[in-house]
Amino acid sequence: ARDAALSTLAFPFGGFRPGQRPLAEAVYKAASAGRCLMAQAPTGIGKTMGTLFPLLKAAPTQRLDKVFFLAAKTSGRQMALDALARLADSAPALPLRVLELVARDKSCEHPDKACHGESCPLAQGFYDRLPAARAAALQPLAGSERITLHQAQVRSAALAHQVCPYYLSQELARWADVVVGDYNYYFDMGGLLHGLAQANGWRTALLVDEAHNLVDRGRKMYTAELRPEGLAQARQSASASRYPAVKKALDKVRRAWVALDKQQAAAYAVHEAFPEDLLAALQLCGNTLTDHLAEHPAEPDAALQAFYFDALHLVRMAGLLDAHSLVDVTQPKAPSLPKAARAPGSSTLCIRNLVPAPFLAPRWEAAHTSTLFSATLQPQRYYTDLLGLPEDHLAIDVESPFQAAQLSVQVARHISTRYPDRKASLAPIVALMARQFGDRPGNYLAFFSSYEYLQQAAALLAERHPALPHWSQSRRMLESEQKQFLARFTESSEGIGFAVLGGAFAEGIDLPGRRLIGAFLATLGLPQVNPVNEQVKERMQALFGEGYDYTYLYPGLQKVVQAAGRVIRTPSDEGVVHLMDDRFGRPEVRALLPTWWAQSGR
Ligand code: SF4
Repeated sequence: ARDAALSTLAFPFGGFRPGQRPLAEAVYKAASAGRCLMAQAPTGIGKTMGTLFPLLKAAPTQRLDKVFFLAAKTSGRQMALDALARLADSAPALPLRVLELVARDKSCEHPDKACHGESCPLAQGFYDRLPAARAAALQPLAGSERITLHQAQVRSAALAHQVCPYYLSQELARWADVVVGDYNYYFDMGGLLHGLAQANGWRTALLVDEAHNLVDRGRKMYTAELRPEGLAQARQSASASRYPAVKKALDKVRRAWVALDKQQAAAYAVHEAFPEDLLAALQLCGNTLTDHLAEHPAEPDAALQAFYFDALHLVRMAGLLDAHSLVDVTQPKAPSLPKAARAPGSSTLCIRNLVPAPFLAPRWEAAHTSTLFSATLQPQRYYTDLLGLPEDHLAIDVESPFQAAQLSVQVARHISTRYPDRKASLAPIVALMARQFGDRPGNYLAFFSSYEYLQQAAALLAERHPALPHWSQSRRMLESEQKQFLARFTESSEGIGFAVLGGAFAEGIDLPGRRLIGAFLATLGLPQVNPVNEQVKERMQALFGEGYDYTYLYPGLQKVVQAAGRVIRTPSDEGVVHLMDDRFGRPEVRALLPTWWAQSGR
């Protein structure tokens, strides 16, 4: 019934938006050929519907069991759920089961408990009550064929039957046609969706939203880190005090850690392999804790469990160590730290993944078809190399629906935002902002490389142009504070919002029309030069022959283009982008800017 309804499914809007049809056709063709597609498509063309609709249309002929829509951020997941709801509205007879997977910390009803029957009431007797809870969740909405497995519905079915909503949603993955969730549900080492697909032989299709994020997210997933406070808390735990075997195993790790630190005089050191003695101690400790936790399930000990999982992950990644990762040990050498915090045994141990490709490649292979899409996937080889896309993958660069005349791109060659020039750059930056605002009052965003730089510029603007309204992003803003920041951008307001590049306001926010008419970029977004990034550069040079570009230039410019992309959101928007650094005039930098900007007045 599902496949029959999908075969006749019509596009839910009157027509495709400009650029949306070629994207949809490319996704359909990739699905039909069982290939992987890398799709660069500009903001505003409706990428979510433009990828979901053709994939669902291809599902019957390609005998797809499941579509996994994987996103880096909540906003991406919400857009997918909205698009799927829109499709369901347009085809009430379509029996499509859409499941939303939500992280444990957002769906747990008892965050102070451990996930087993001896500790949490919603885990106790879970499997006895699961069939009834599942049946309740899978009830169609009154008067339609629609089965909605979004967070709210799953929670209500779970609580009605006294089972855990988090684990109920995971159980429902088998019954869903489309699953919408974070990247980690498929790409993580133990990714639930990948595991289920393998175990059940499902034929799957992947949609990877804002896929440029997968480089950093992949690196995080395949990195293992041990921090000294994790071990200290485990050693101070109730279990360590009560059970000598636990204490002994943790003490052994501590001794090996101290011995390692005593051999390291430098603040930062890279090792060929993970230090043997410490690895052996961690393996032994992992075995001891596995036995202990199995024998004492009724004694939840968060600190011990956290260290246990970190240690297991590290031991596992040590076994998979190759050129894709490096082992580094960082000592807390800052003289401002108390002496105890700098004592041996205080280092951070890391198996740092730099190239997620070897871990991601089998995941693409396991899927029948995959589409990675984003507005910024340039240069293609950077993403192909780091994301491990199959040799025969397809690629499309969807033309922008926007006209060069909509966006004036200005390069301020008289400004340098290089670190030593920052102080001198403040006055010309502020003068340029004030001049632009005077010429065309309205709402602007100004992006800086750090909070410190941002605050210095904001202070000078306040001093020299006290009448010019402005507001600033601050560190660790709460969600409500972020909303307040954005709420200042209205159709009738005027002012400049100061933000950091790569932060919450540089990507994924939508301020169409007069809500945003321009952006100032006082940075190329280049990652900081530090010992870790210099190691990354060396490895990128060895593996791909482009050390500097793969480490600094490409990731930096990707952020610049994302941030500048906030200005033009619809074909009727008009705006200006000021690129405030002489390096924006260089050919290798200009080559990384969107082609549709090229004809504007630079
Ligand atoms: S079983 Fe569910 S509700 Fe209970 S602690 Fe675990 S995640 Fe939370």
